[in-house]
Amino acid sequence: MSVPCKVIYQVQHLIERSFIMTKNIRNFAFTAIILFAAAFAFILSSKTVHAASCTSHSYKLIASSTNSSTGDVTKIYRCTTCKGTKRVVSNKADKTYTIKLAGSKTVKVTGHYVDTMANQIVSQLNTYRKSKGLSTLKKTTALTKAAKVRAYEIGYKFSHTRPNGKACYTVNSKVVYGENIASGYTTAAKAMAAWKASAGHNANMLNSYKTVGVSVFAMKVTKGNNSTYVYYAVQNFGY
Ligand SMILES: [Zn+2]
Repeated sequence: MSVPCKVIYQVQHLIERSFIMTKNIRNFAFTAIILFAAAFAFILSSKTVHAASCTSHSYKLIASSTNSSTGDVTKIYRCTTCKGTKRVVSNKADKTYTIKLAGSKTVKVTGHYVDTMANQIVSQLNTYRKSKGLSTLKKTTALTKAAKVRAYEIGYKFSHTRPNGKACYTVNSKVVYGENIASGYTTAAKAMAAWKASAGHNANMLNSYKTVGVSVFAMKVTKGNNSTYVYYAVQNFGY
């Protein structure tokens, strides 16, 4: 008697447990569906508010700051309707440069030169060469001019092949015999460290060249509502 009873109890217990489990799963699924629906409704409503009430942003300046060392001015604006913000950088030295592409097409880039950093690269390069027992390189006007063109060209196309499809040397074939490029380094020391750490670039810096031209171009880059400067550095070497 006790045996079947126990069996029945166990079976019943199992049924009960499976029922509780099913109930828990059902509760969990139900909660998950509710949470998911709430999140979806929130996303939908926020999008709807933005699209319906803000067909054209009406931005108002809410903050402005100037970096004393770079002269970069950062302005933050907020839309009076949708409260969305945008960040705009500018520098009074900004100019627009036209780059020739293959064929007769052109493209424009905007930014400014960071000559203090370029000069620091020249002096750090010569300090580095002296430490290796090598002669210093003479900065020339022609190579500096070439580097200034290459600096905004690499902002558009980061390569030793120019945007027009020709080799970097063609920027001035009479004087340019070597080129190092870097992007994203905001100090001379960081750019130099990156070039030293790369065998090919390091060999270029320690080659038997006699002359050099360096340029740093801070190119204005806009992503969505925000703009920033990306630094492009060029070393052009010659004899
Ligand atoms: Zn808006």
